[in-house]
Amino acid sequence: MGNKFVRAIFPGSFDPITNGHLDVIKRGMRLFDELIVAVGRSPVKNQLFTPEERVEMISELIRDLPGVLVESFEGLTVQYAAKRQADVILRGLRSLTDVQYEFQLAMTNRAVAGIETVFIMTSEQYGFTSSTLIREVASLGGDLSNLIPENVHQRLEGRFSRLRAAPT
Ligand code: ADP
Repeated sequence: MGNKFVRAIFPGSFDPITNGHLDVIKRGMRLFDELIVAVGRSPVKNQLFTPEERVEMISELIRDLPGVLVESFEGLTVQYAAKRQADVILRGLRSLTDVQYEFQLAMTNRAVAGIETVFIMTSEQYGFTSSTLIREVASLGGDLSNLIPENVHQRLEGRFSRLRAAPT
């Protein structure tokens, strides 16, 4: 990409971050000068972790990754991208189902803001890993140690053992 400083944002819910996300971050950091992991503060009803908790878990994981930062944002991704003067939106792809949705999203973002999206394909072993699945399996007490980082594992354990002890 020449001599220009290239800043990318990797927006998502990250509720919680998984090894699949982390894989995309580690591949993405080699392509850009700066990569900002951007935790969306969209008012989702069934969120498990607060944006602050999500940012905290991610910052523990990217501490040793040069050029990688994390923050949360509110509102439209393209507005946030403009505010941060990002050149590129980074997204991950797991399957053909992802492609359909991501294609629409990328076309829309390019149409409304002229920003390009770059996709990174997941490593085979994380092709079926989603935050939704992680939340479900964790709530039922399943072993997820291969799919999520250790700090996330511990937080999930804490969260669900408390919920199981005091069901609402
Ligand atoms: P969103 O709600 O914006 O889809 P997610 O946190 O679910 O937020 O995902 C953020 C990005 O990470 C998306 O581009 C998604 O396709 C990608 N992603 C999620 N899980 C994986 C995975 N296992 N491998 C590669 N990319 C992934």
